[in-house]
Amino acid sequence: MATSEELHKRRVEAVARGVGSTIPAYVDRAGGGTITDVDGREWIDFAAGIAVTNVGNSAPRVVEAVRAQVERFTHTCFMVAPYESYVAVCEQLNALTPGGFEKRSALFNSGAEAVENAVKIARHATGRPAVVVFDHAYHGRTNLTMALTAKNMPYKHRFGPFAGEVYRVPMSYPLRDGGLDGATAAARSIEMIEKQVGAENVAALLIEPIQGEGGFVVPAEGFLPALREWATAAGVVFVADEIQTGFCRTGDWFACEHEGVEPDLITLAKGIAGGLPLAAVTGRADLMDAVHVGGLGGTYGGNPIACAAALASMETMRELDLAAAARRIGAVMGERLRAIAAGDPRVVEVRGRGAMLAMEIVVPGTLTPDPAATAAISAACHAAGLLTLTCGTYGNVLRFLPPLAISDDELGRGLDILAAAFG
Ligand SMILES: *Cc1c(COP(=O)(O)O)cnc(C)c1O
Repeated sequence: MATSEELHKRRVEAVARGVGSTIPAYVDRAGGGTITDVDGREWIDFAAGIAVTNVGNSAPRVVEAVRAQVERFTHTCFMVAPYESYVAVCEQLNALTPGGFEKRSALFNSGAEAVENAVKIARHATGRPAVVVFDHAYHGRTNLTMALTAKNMPYKHRFGPFAGEVYRVPMSYPLRDGGLDGATAAARSIEMIEKQVGAENVAALLIEPIQGEGGFVVPAEGFLPALREWATAAGVVFVADEIQTGFCRTGDWFACEHEGVEPDLITLAKGIAGGLPLAAVTGRADLMDAVHVGGLGGTYGGNPIACAAALASMETMRELDLAAAARRIGAVMGERLRAIAAGDPRVVEVRGRGAMLAMEIVVPGTLTPDPAATAAISAACHAAGLLTLTCGTYGNVLRFLPPLAISDDELGRGLDILAAAFG
């Protein structure tokens, strides 16, 4: 087998430079909480392929379901000749997502595609043009979703012009907004919407209940419920982007459940199918069914292999109670992260929920972001065999997203490496 170094040489000659990688090691196999490269080196996995392999890599049920489906048929296109697994995934999403009302779902390939479709549905159903998003938001890399995403580098730089009728308002970010309470932070955002956009022009308010790429920003308690209440009164479709927070990651099936918020539409992807590409929009039947027949779809959306994987993943989450696993991981990890923070003034905050935790890194004694220190700690982790990711508008947040199937031993070893990386 070629070595990682040999593969990297080939990659540089074959793969476009614009596609980056966190580590220069090439994967041979992965499972539980460990990734092994072609040279036999191991990394404890605190990335889960960016919150995707919540059930673990090659989870047994997923492997079995995919194998069985591949042998039956690989693709007919649901818009041409439909099949049961697509319907079954939609039934499960309708039942699992918050809100006791009648729901419908539609399946797509990627998170960005789900977000685009949620906007299409909200605009169609309301007849209004505007979409409101938040500071630090991340919603994808297609043209519309770049417009919805906040951060320029690397996501938007020189890729414009971007889609119109997108308006950005302040997020609740307690560390950096003077600790505004949720209701006050929401009132500030709502006033801006009403004065600068006009509620009657707004089709959708789109928000990540805990921001992902933007820095694992957890809004103050009350922020999401206040926005939900305003959206209801204003006839605005409340869309929760749970693409990173979904599928047991935060200790609930969906992060909105934490404060009892019931979105009108939810966008889903990442953790849905154990690593196979699948995404969904799930929401109120009257909104979803407002769109004319044939108005939604795509060649691969709800591919039968991805649907089989999703059904097996959701079954695994239920069977192993991965929401409880996320809470357990969060308790163990949170304690270790807070201990590191107590001994290192560069860590200004430990935050997150369940198995979605982060540390924000600053110049000690200030709120000045320190992306260089963040990158150095991250590099030390990679060198010592722990795969971590960074995020945040200022590039100064270390984020931890282990597979929910990680073993206690792997989790402990990963946290030991992390502690050592702080020196
Ligand atoms: C990753 C992500 C997306 C985009 O998903 P892709 O599958 O990469 O297109 C959208 N929203 C959130 C919150 C995400 O974390």
